Formats: sequence, structure tokens, C-alpha cells
Amino acid sequence: PHRTIRPQPGILDIELYVSGESKLAGAQNSVTKLSSNENPYGPSPAAKAAVIAAAESLELYPDSGHAALRGAIAEVHGLDPARVICGAGSDEIIAFLCQVYAGPGDEVVHTEHGFAMYPISARAAGATPVEAPERVRVTDVDAILSVCTDRTRLVFIANPNNPTGTMIGPEEVARLAEGLPEAALLVLDGAYAEYVRDPDFDAGRALVEARDNVVMTRTFSKVHGLGGLRVGWGYGPAHVIEALNRVRGPFNVSAAGLAAGEAAIRDRDHVARSVALNAQWRDWLAAELDALGIPSDRSEANFILARFDSPDQAGACDMALREGGVLVRRVTGYKLPAALRITIGDELACRRVVSIIADFLGRSE
Ligand code: PMP
Repeated sequence: PHRTIRPQPGILDIELYVSGESKLAGAQNSVTKLSSNENPYGPSPAAKAAVIAAAESLELYPDSGHAALRGAIAEVHGLDPARVICGAGSDEIIAFLCQVYAGPGDEVVHTEHGFAMYPISARAAGATPVEAPERVRVTDVDAILSVCTDRTRLVFIANPNNPTGTMIGPEEVARLAEGLPEAALLVLDGAYAEYVRDPDFDAGRALVEARDNVVMTRTFSKVHGLGGLRVGWGYGPAHVIEALNRVRGPFNVSAAGLAAGEAAIRDRDHVARSVALNAQWRDWLAAELDALGIPSDRSEANFILARFDSPDQAGACDMALREGGVLVRRVTGYKLPAALRITIGDELACRRVVSIIADFLGRSE
């Protein structure tokens, strides 16, 4: 550390976020990347066309009010456009929430196997992350309520959750919102909401409309296939969105991101196709691995959490997959050392995973 120039307290306690690898050192053949829950079918062709069109005027700053994108989001999801806020990925919305609502002495609650950016953004804001245990890899509302105090300012849950893939139902989410201390805001992270089996699943809209202590975050990085452009959004009560907009940089979403997001959200066929293929291959992959003795929890997302007998076995299988040109995600940092998180790829990718794991298990018998 430097003698006089020092980061704010808590900053050096942040564990670096390690993202899914995208390249395999020395790889000869094509690499199948199943480590970051991206859409294997890519974005809508209309989104690609919109990026190319946006390239005609790259010298111009983007619309700082995000009017067209907020309008499209509101139209498709039946929301009030004035209460939509867009960010450079939903990561940025998470960061805004922590910046605005949590500071030194405040607590930010997240779950045991919750998304890593919650504690990172909490610490970056000077606040203290507080972890609530889960009920065998499922969000536990009672456990969350029992760790809340009068210092709790934010409670983050992802539903479905990453990296477990599990979710809780609307009654449980409502019970959580109702039970929170008065000064706490509930953040429902719906990054994987489109993939939920129940076609009537509501990632938070009804609760946001009914209450004043709930915010929903969503992303274009998963089902919309735009991870490379960094676009996400949030929806909440007016008092929250107004506050978040105070810390938002005027040009936080690029012109290409705005244009692509608008085209992507309007292409409902592409979303429906991606969701259907994901469901088909998610069920297939889970059943095949289960038959090989590798169970996973019922996933409502675009990945499964494959559970091995031991951290060593998970590590060895990860190596075997790498040797076969497949990148998956070790989730040791999520306190799941005996598991591998595998994104649901296309048919070829799923078959590749099963054949490598079957070989691996055959060899290690
Ligand atoms: N929330 C959850 C639960 C996630 O898994 C992710 C992506 N890893 C994000 C938020 C952030 O995604 P993005 O910033 O690309 O919108």
C-alpha cells in the first residue's frame, strides 16, 4: 500500500470479480464458451442491423435520456417509461442502487450463493455486505428477514438466482417485500427472468406497481444476446428512479447499445425461439448428466449447476472439459466448490459437454 494515498475503507476488502473465461490458452480448435450464460443463438438480426446503422453517426453523443429505448421497454413490458432507467449492463444499475442507498454504517443483504456484484457494489459504496444463508441452494425469505436490521438499506435477490438456477414463487417474494424493515429497498434482479418455465412469471412488475420499496433490474446480456454491448435497465417507484438518475452519467449507454436494445426487445420471436431452445436443451442436459450420476437442481435459467462428489472431482472434470475445448464456470467463489456452472449452449455444445463428462467419468472409475 502507498504511504499516503489510500483507497476508501473497505475497497481493498473487495474480492476481484473473476468473469467467465472467453479464451483457452493454446487452443487449436474452436472453443465452446459455456462460462458466462450468453445466448448461444446470438442477438436478433434486427439488433445487429441497428448496430450497423448506428455506425453511421458514431461522432454524435447518444440520447442521454434514452427515450426510444425506455419507450420500447415500457411498451413491450407494459410499464411506465418515466420509471425505467437504463444502464451499462444491469451491473451499473446495481452500482447506482448501492451508491444512492448505502454508505458507511449501512448494511446490504445478499444471499449465500447470490450474484457476486452485490457485495462488491456494496463495499464500493462504503457499506457492509451481510450474507443470508440459503435453504439448500434456494433463496430463504425467513433467513433474509432474520439478518435484516435497522441498518439494512438494500436487499438483493436474483430470481432465478445465479449460479444456482433456482427460484422462489411470487408469494415468497411478496412476503419478503412486506417483511422488510422500513428503510430497506428490495431489489429483484431478473437477469434470467425470460427463461422461467411459467409463462405467467412476473419478474417484479406487479410488486413494483403495488409497493414503494421494490425495484426490478433486467438485462440485455442474456436472452437478448447483447452482452458485448452492455445494456441493462431498472424499473421502480418514481422516488427511486429519480434518485438513481442523479448519479447516472448522461451518456452511460452507448448509441449502439441503445439502438440494439430497442431492436432486440421488439423482436419477440427471437426471444421466444431462444427460450424454447434453451428449455429443450436444459432439460436434455440435466437428464443426461443426472443419468451419469451428476445431479443438478431444477434450473429456471439458461445454465445448470452440475454437482460433483467433491471439489477435486469438479476440478478434474473442469480440466477434462477444457482439454475438450469447452469452458464452463467453476463457482468456488460462490461457496460451491464441488459444482460447475454450465451455460446451456446449442445442441452441439450440449452433446459435446455430455460426451466429455461421460468419458471423464468412465476414465476415473
Ligand atoms: N445479475 C445477475 C444475476 C447476473 O448473473 C448478471 C450477469 N452475470 C448480471 C446481473 C449482470 O449482467 P449485465 O451487467 O450484463 O446486465
